[in-house]
Amino acid sequence: MQNLNLTDHKAANEEELARQKEFLEKAGMYVRELASELGRTPTFHVTNFGCQMNAKDAEKLAGILASAGFSEIEEESADFVIYNTCTVRDNADQHFYGRLGRASHFKKSNPRMKIAVCGCMMQEKTNVEKLKKSYPYVDLIFGTHNLFRFPEYLCRVYENAQKYPRSASARRIVDVWEKTDLIVEDLPAERKYAYKSGVNIMFGCDNFCTYCIVPYVRGRERSRSPREILREVTRLAQDGVVEVMLLGQNVNSYGKDLEEPLSFAELLESVCKVPGIERVRFMTPHPKDISEELIQVIKRNPKAARHIHFPLQSGSDRILKLMNRRYSRDEYMEKALHIREEIPDVAITTDIIAGFPTETPADVDDTIDVIRKVGFDNAYTFIYSVRTGTPAARMEQVPEEEAKKGFDRILAAVQETAKQQTLLLQGRTMCALIEEENAQLDGYVSGRLSNNTIVHVPGDASMIGKFYDVSLDDCRGFYYFGKALKERSGEVG
Ligand code: SF4
Repeated sequence: MQNLNLTDHKAANEEELARQKEFLEKAGMYVRELASELGRTPTFHVTNFGCQMNAKDAEKLAGILASAGFSEIEEESADFVIYNTCTVRDNADQHFYGRLGRASHFKKSNPRMKIAVCGCMMQEKTNVEKLKKSYPYVDLIFGTHNLFRFPEYLCRVYENAQKYPRSASARRIVDVWEKTDLIVEDLPAERKYAYKSGVNIMFGCDNFCTYCIVPYVRGRERSRSPREILREVTRLAQDGVVEVMLLGQNVNSYGKDLEEPLSFAELLESVCKVPGIERVRFMTPHPKDISEELIQVIKRNPKAARHIHFPLQSGSDRILKLMNRRYSRDEYMEKALHIREEIPDVAITTDIIAGFPTETPADVDDTIDVIRKVGFDNAYTFIYSVRTGTPAARMEQVPEEEAKKGFDRILAAVQETAKQQTLLLQGRTMCALIEEENAQLDGYVSGRLSNNTIVHVPGDASMIGKFYDVSLDDCRGFYYFGKALKERSGEVG
């Protein structure tokens, strides 16, 4: 585990990067040996669970495996399989164990197969112990803080396979850190999309909402240097990326820990200026920290997406207090309505938890009241699930059917406002980034407006990654059917 003074950071990061690059070269040697044994190129598969941050980590893991010489396949029966786990919700845990159980069958028919498990769940000791005891076929376990050590672990997995052919427990590598100050840049990453990419701007969270495991599994807030972020965004733009999403558990806190503090709003404005980048999104801001400076930067920068994801979690002051969210329903509504006034066409989406400990029908009424007053454009609504080790796990739990009743009422209210908000765009012409061919409708492609609304238009794969003016003709609840009128060049807005 590394714990460094600020002044040591740069040198330590560079030293670690150089080490890992050496391991990556060495891993290439093991992959070539494997290729000659198999008589084909070895394959890999990364199964990702969870949020945008995890998706970004999965790209890094895939990039390292591809650089070592593996080729990616869709199937979980690949020669090297990684499960990048999520612990935010209980069903993600169960889903993961189900998939891992299936992997044992693949390993029986391909004994050279290697299985690695990483991500947030591995930061919890109980999960690591469970894997060690009940899943002996797992070769490698590591956590969120030391993902950059993956080239090294990759080498050790193949070294151990030669050293300890008969003992699964001697072969297995387990390395989970409780924290780190290192931020290792520049290891290879394999992007999922050619035209858009996530960019980590910070790691960890200091907020300790009582239901959330993130501060325990992702550690305290650490910001990347603005120079490194802008270098990455510039490189992405040179590589054809037109849209970036700045990622952090609590982006408003960006920069507070830097030697020369810089606000998130300032960073956002600089990213908007990178030539070639036409749209900038970010995820996730904490409502208590949304600043006027940020609202004004979004307002004056057409490249900043007209979409703010603004997690409410509950509209009841009593529940917000129990959640340790540190804002009241009135403060939340005041900010949300101010954002609507200042930024025309902005979409406000949110996260809401139903069935938080002690929640009553009256608390749900308060949440529904906020939903209607703000008029959310969309919401991710979840039933509360206990995360062991968090303060909320020790509070009085709501019976499952009560939580479900609250969830259904909240969902119905959100669907109502989301439909109303989407309908406001009917008949307009707006700019969409075309993202993919429509999987259900032949001859159609799907794009996304700056405010995150999806629109389906007739078209083909040649349009993907380009901006078009589209007519919003036919509102189907939460999305549109329309036509692509013309490709946009220059500022897209
Ligand atoms: S702000 Fe709260 S909910 Fe979000 S990551 Fe931090 S502790 Fe978790």
